[in-house]
Amino acid sequence: MRLSFVLVVLFYSFSSLATPWEKEKSPTTNSTSSIGSYANGCLDGAQALPINGVGYQIIRPQRERYYGHTEAIQFIERLGLTTSEQLGTNLLIGDISLPRGGRFSSGHSSHQTGLDIDIWLRLTDKRLSENELAVPKPVSAVDLTNYKLRQSNWTDDHFQVIRHAAKDEKVVRIFVHPVIKQALCDQEVSDVKQREWLGKIRPWWGHHSHFHVRLKCPEGSANCIPQALPPKGDGCGEELASWAPKTIPVPPPKKVATNKKKKKIKVMPSQCLALISNK
Ligand SMILES: [Zn+2]
Repeated sequence: MRLSFVLVVLFYSFSSLATPWEKEKSPTTNSTSSIGSYANGCLDGAQALPINGVGYQIIRPQRERYYGHTEAIQFIERLGLTTSEQLGTNLLIGDISLPRGGRFSSGHSSHQTGLDIDIWLRLTDKRLSENELAVPKPVSAVDLTNYKLRQSNWTDDHFQVIRHAAKDEKVVRIFVHPVIKQALCDQEVSDVKQREWLGKIRPWWGHHSHFHVRLKCPEGSANCIPQALPPKGDGCGEELASWAPKTIPVPPPKKVATNKKKKKIKVMPSQCLALISNK
């Protein structure tokens, strides 16, 4: 078989795996509006994050996942500016959304409405070259085997950046690995008022080399479906402790073959279907 033929077949089998959202290569020209929920929605009138910004760089720009609601773009520009001016370092911005939001074929269930932003925990004092940005190396702040912080990869700058992000009024949640939340809890002063931002920091597996910022539904996005607010308080006590691995092994529950719940198929909001040519 000729190599070119194999490549063509491979190309078509891969592109058929892409969701209709991944096939849309440009945003709509409507005014910016987030539609639906974070994990089942889309983005009308997306804005692209400028490739060269103060205090940040976009990683893997070739994937073109740097589209967001205007408020997300402005948030990143604010955080970049603060990071550059106050800490003298730069952020690496990972995935935001596709040009029209919607579903990815892999990697994320959220990031569909232009309001979720991944920011790496690797801070760069020196800006990365194009090649380094195309294939960036992540840095993990957590020793996953021993469920503890990697002190060598965690600095006061990390604490400051995440605190700045959480204190931003547009931000509702920031997902981090539970070990990172514990570090933030330990580093903040004891004054209740000053610890309020910690309530927005939500423990979640997987977020050890990046943190995931979620913005609230923007004003003017009438069809944006908000999520319930996180529980009151700093979330540093029992709830956080419950994430720690148990030392006593628990026997796996017996499998019951009957009554298996089928996974619900999500129905995209109709306003979203209007944004794509291939439904
Ligand atoms: Zn994310």
